[in-house]
Order: sequence, then C-alpha cells, then structure tokens
Amino acid sequence: MHIGIIIVAAGRGTRAGGELPKQWQRLGGQAVARWTLEAFAGRGPIVLVIHPDDRALAEAATQGMDLRLVDGGAERAASVLAGLEALTGDKPDKVLIHDVARPCVSAAVIDAVLAALATRSGAAPALPVTDALWTGDAGLVSGTRDRAGLYRAQTPQGFDFAQILAAHRAHPGGAADDVAVARAAGMDVAIVPGDEANLKITAPEDFSRAARQLRGQMDIRLGNGFDVHAFEDGDHVILCGVEVPHTHKLKGHSDADVGMHAVTDAIYGALAEGDIGRHFPPSDPQWKGAASNIFLRHAVDLARSRGFEIGNIDLTLICERPKIGPHATEMTLKMAEVMDLDSTRISIKATTSERLGFTGREEGIAALATATLVAS
Ligand code: MG
Repeated sequence: MHIGIIIVAAGRGTRAGGELPKQWQRLGGQAVARWTLEAFAGRGPIVLVIHPDDRALAEAATQGMDLRLVDGGAERAASVLAGLEALTGDKPDKVLIHDVARPCVSAAVIDAVLAALATRSGAAPALPVTDALWTGDAGLVSGTRDRAGLYRAQTPQGFDFAQILAAHRAHPGGAADDVAVARAAGMDVAIVPGDEANLKITAPEDFSRAARQLRGQMDIRLGNGFDVHAFEDGDHVILCGVEVPHTHKLKGHSDADVGMHAVTDAIYGALAEGDIGRHFPPSDPQWKGAASNIFLRHAVDLARSRGFEIGNIDLTLICERPKIGPHATEMTLKMAEVMDLDSTRISIKATTSERLGFTGREEGIAALATATLVAS
C-alpha cells in the first residue's frame, strides 16, 4: 500500500493564544508542527499545507525534514484539496489527512486507520462519548440527550486516494471534515479506536497537556565530562579541533584536545559507557598523536546506534590564556561538522579561574562539558 500524507496546518489557531499560530509555537523544545510531522515520518511522502504568510515559520520549524510545503486555501476543505492535488504525482493508493494540532498521535492509531483501509474506502479514529450530554439555556440545564451512538472524531482520517480526491473536487464546500466530504460522495468510513492522548491543541492549557503526553514518550539522558591537560613547550594548542596559537602546547597521548575530550566523555557518560580511556586505551600505540575527532565521532556514532540523537552540548573551557572568544565560532562550526549536528545545539564558552589554582597559574587547561541525548 503506497500512502500519501497531508498535514493540514493552514489555520490561524487564534483560540490557543500566543503571538504565533499554535502550530508554530514551541512545545517541549520544538514546534508543534514538528512533533506532528515526526509521528508520520517514514510512512510515505508528506505534504504540509500552510497559510501563505507562514512560509518562513514553516521552513524554520521543519528544517532538515523530508516534506513539501503547499499553500492552503481560505477554508479547511480548500487546503485539503490543495494537499491532495499536490500528491497526485506520487500516485498514492491511500491518503492520511491529519490536523497539525494533534502532535501526540500514536503509531497505534495510525496503524489502526491503515488496517481498516485494507477493506474500506475510508477510516477514522474516534472515541465514544462517555460524559452525559445536556442542552443548556441561560446557564440552566434545559434538557438531556442520549449519548448512545455518538463519537468524538479525531484524525488522521484515511481514504482511498482517488475516491477522496474526486469527492473533494465535487464537494460544494462547508463540510465539517473530510469524513463529511467522503460520505457526501457515498464512501463508507469505518470507525477505529481513537486515543485520549491524541488531543487537539485548541486552548492555551492544551499545550501543557500535550507536553506531558510527549514527555512520556521521551527518553532523555544527561552526561557530564571533565578533562585536564597540562602545558608543555610548544607554539599552539588544539581546542575543539581548532589550532589556536599560544606560548605552549597541551601535553597528551593524542592531540590533547581537552575540549573535545570533555564533550566525548559527556556523551559516553549519558550512555553509561565509561570514558575515552575505555574505548581508546592510552596504552594502545595506535592512538598516539591521534586527532581527537576520531574519539568524538565514535561517541556520537555509538549514541546514534543506540537510537539517541544529541539534544545539545554545553562546554566550558577554563584557562587564563589563550583567549577563547575570538575562536569560539570556528570551534562551534568544527564541532558541528564532526558531530553532524546543527551548530545552534552546541555552546562553547570560556572562563578564567581568577588566577587561582592550576589553571590560574597557567599550568594547563581544564574543560567541563554537558551533553543531552534524546531517544529518536
Ligand atoms: Mg584528555
């Protein structure tokens, strides 16, 4: 089954508060839209339908993701139709249409919709209404309604691609959702089990509810690393892969890159995988004079092989001299290259120790690093 995916993100989301439309607001460290897109990654081509004014926001929120941005229309149905038309070249058998404001959708809900599409032309998740239903008038209960047979609709709503495309092209407009469009065209839509966690961010308080759901799915590890190398005669030091002219060099078995060593140890620490010495024993002559990016790259690859991505790195170099500031940008870019990581996730800063202790006496350089790893 070849599946196309449409994420509808053209709404303005004004009820959710905040300065930006809700889909571009941050939730647990990244845009709402990015969580939603990640839930569908790898299932097929993705079209993200946006408001034309939001293109820069959408590009920033989806950096590095494999998807197409398509401008939506004035109404939701027009946006969905724009998404469907954009997928025609992919010739999908089925299509999933999902609200961007439901970032907590689980793989189980998506799988249930797809399973039902094997035998039905449409399928959508829903939850039976369990609360009592009232009508109200002027603050008073004016009646009760039978809740039997009533459902709360969720997304993704899945359809046979050719049929829903024809249904949207033929629909006069004003439909509540894609299921209404499908039914107007005579399609059967199966109800599959929805999920309370698959909430739609609508009001400001929904952000914290969604963040709690997503945190439950997150495995976050924190590691620290500390390293010291002494000065000896020389004319430069290697710090974070950058050659910095100085009156001494750093003494060590490898290139003595104290900054890279601390970061490497922080990553090993987050993985509970010991330190550089365990993976690259100093007793082994093959690491003599080695460039430390070999160690850092090993730690990053080990993290990724365990299913973790580097969340961020924060490194503090402690020395009186050389001055780090003029080289910090180059160091950050070098580390980003070695780690294959966005440079905005890498912080490199420096401090003196106010002339106190071994760093104050300029006997060497110390480095302190923190790394977070996030299960991906
Ligand atoms: Mg070291």
